[in-house]
Amino acid sequence: MTTIGDNLYSVSTRLQQACAQAGRPRAEVRLLAVSKTFDADAVRQAWRAGQRAFGENYVQEGVAKIEALATAGDCPGLEWHCIGPLQSNKTRPVAEHFDWVHSVDRLKVAERLSAQRPAGRAPLQVCLQVDVDGGANKSGVAPADLPALAEAVARLPGLRLRGLMCIPEPAPDFESQRALFLQARALFDDLRARGFDLDTLSMGMSDDLEAAVAAGSTLVRVGRAIFGHRERKPGPPGPFDAATAAAA
Ligand SMILES: *Cc1c(COP(=O)(O)O)cnc(C)c1O
Repeated sequence: MTTIGDNLYSVSTRLQQACAQAGRPRAEVRLLAVSKTFDADAVRQAWRAGQRAFGENYVQEGVAKIEALATAGDCPGLEWHCIGPLQSNKTRPVAEHFDWVHSVDRLKVAERLSAQRPAGRAPLQVCLQVDVDGGANKSGVAPADLPALAEAVARLPGLRLRGLMCIPEPAPDFESQRALFLQARALFDDLRARGFDLDTLSMGMSDDLEAAVAAGSTLVRVGRAIFGHRERKPGPPGPFDAATAAAA
């Protein structure tokens, strides 16, 4: 059985090769370890292997883990990214506990996050989620509405607009994956050309990180390739998480 440390090593080797293939410096691409459905102890193991940035999808589950690890105090320097769909009535715990949010796709959510960001903390680092392939019931701002949203979000005092995030539909092969990621890249370049100071293009997961890096990703969000198969859908903490939090 491989350990989380072994898996992190394999993923960083994949990233190294993907960057070499794309003619990009490895330092241009950050790795976000997506720990949804895994407990605080899995985060600890990744931390011991040098990983510091973690992504969570579900607010309640993420906050429980953040608090458990902060209380235990044995993993200093953790950085927490909220990457899941956000309802506007669930923004407060996100504003209070996370460092980044990748899934902002409407102004109302951004305004609430900004207003609820505690005064003593650095601004919340934000990516706008863009719906590149117009998937039906999908999250993300439509490309046509992106510049206006960016304009408004960039003005909010509690937030710092860092870039874009996308989750395209799975595509059958490398070239079609890359083509979808290149659409996000074009939107990113367009915003930069309009004067937005952006440095983060959050795209690529366990199955398609190579195509994302080829298209210019600066941050890949990797879950299964690090932590293994997910036994359950992300959701409210179950008895398993409560036991872990208590033991922490
Ligand atoms: C779960 C998830 C990931 C990680 O996906 P894997 O396929 O496990 O690597 C990345 N981004 C988002 C938004 C996710 O929900």
